[in-house]
Amino acid sequence: MTMDNAYVKRVYNKLTESNAHETEFLQAVKEFFEAIEIVIDEDDNYEKHAILERLVEPERIISFQVPWLNDQGKIEVNRGYRVQFNSVNGPYKGGIRFHPTVTQSVLKFLAFEQTFKNSLTNLPIGGAKGGSDFDPKGRSDNEIMNFCYSFMTELNKYIGSDYDVPSGDIGVGKREISFLYAMYKKLNGPHLGVLTGKPTDLFGSYGRTEATGYGLIYFLNEMLAVADQSLEGKKVIISGSGNVAYYAARKVQELGGIVVSMSDSNSTVYNTNGIDLDQIEILKINSANRIKNYHTSDKETKIEEKSVWDIDIQADIALPCATQNEINEEQAKRLMNNGVKFVLEGANMPSKPEAIKVFKEADIYFAPGKASNAGGVTVSALEMSQNSMRLQWTTDKVDKELKIIMQGIFEQCVKACEDYNLGKDFAVAADIASFKKIAHQMIEMGMY
Ligand code: GLU
Repeated sequence: MTMDNAYVKRVYNKLTESNAHETEFLQAVKEFFEAIEIVIDEDDNYEKHAILERLVEPERIISFQVPWLNDQGKIEVNRGYRVQFNSVNGPYKGGIRFHPTVTQSVLKFLAFEQTFKNSLTNLPIGGAKGGSDFDPKGRSDNEIMNFCYSFMTELNKYIGSDYDVPSGDIGVGKREISFLYAMYKKLNGPHLGVLTGKPTDLFGSYGRTEATGYGLIYFLNEMLAVADQSLEGKKVIISGSGNVAYYAARKVQELGGIVVSMSDSNSTVYNTNGIDLDQIEILKINSANRIKNYHTSDKETKIEEKSVWDIDIQADIALPCATQNEINEEQAKRLMNNGVKFVLEGANMPSKPEAIKVFKEADIYFAPGKASNAGGVTVSALEMSQNSMRLQWTTDKVDKELKIIMQGIFEQCVKACEDYNLGKDFAVAADIASFKKIAHQMIEMGMY
């Protein structure tokens, strides 16, 4: 795809000049602009209202120092951020990521994507993302607590239950959310709704931990149904072994599919007859454990110090659930050669643009993260509702709502495919569906 529309081109060129070093952010915007160009072409109101200029400029970026005490009694310093990208659709909402690769560019791309993902849920939440270049790997509970307390001592000034509600992302789970929540409460008094992804005994929502993975498989089910197929007997490659990957794997297995691989940043475990998810669960409980410690007596199961995308595994479905830009062009071609017909993104932007091009040329089913991984933020928004109502739903009720919302996202994609003759280009469809909603809200509100 190219950028032909003069307005789209002008805004993008200006953005590249003013954000030249923010490669991930520019990548996300470029993909998005190329997708929605067809909509911009049909109505000059978008240009008149400067919709694109306003959509690519974050409403606010907060960057702060995070000093904390390590177990040796030394002070370490990291950089913390919150990118409050867009509040047109409601209070800022999006996760916090603790990972050494976190930069302003990464958080801007994530917050930009989050804005459109959140709009697709049809729930009133705007787009944000935050985090730090802090690496939690190998740190003690005490160090994690010190870091989280310091992070929140600063962040608390900029968030609130009707203003900005963070949750987890890579490196931030229930333990971190609990520490962050504790410091928020200490500084602001009793509180309930300011963070989501809390443990259920702190009135987090049931089903939140599983939500992104389960939601991904509910979306997959819809896609398979359109193709007149089901998960029964299908072989599924999964990358990653965190919450998204693990619960997606469990749901695949529950619905009769076969999980043939999982991975971490160093190694991959694979077996075309299926791997043992109980082993993955054991590894997950102790975060110091890695895939290379996966125990098996099964001769067919192999563990290699390689990316899962560099190994030839025959499969029907691939679910990249690790991180951004994990699949390149060559790896995408390998998937096609190995028979994969469905690629659904569980992570945010795991496929490079060249990889997406390969999927499109092969005419397979592809679902972009902003549609297929929206289950996590969906249940986060349901946690906000439950906290406001001062009640807690059952797992069953949350799961039913999640399913309905994932089906709703799928239907919006199908409708955009029909309206714009996109075939099965869900990547473009998701961008168009969410863009039209947000642009319309902006036009309604004037110069907001
Ligand atoms: N980090 C998740 C995402 O990428 C969830 C965000 C949230 O629950 O606020 O959508």
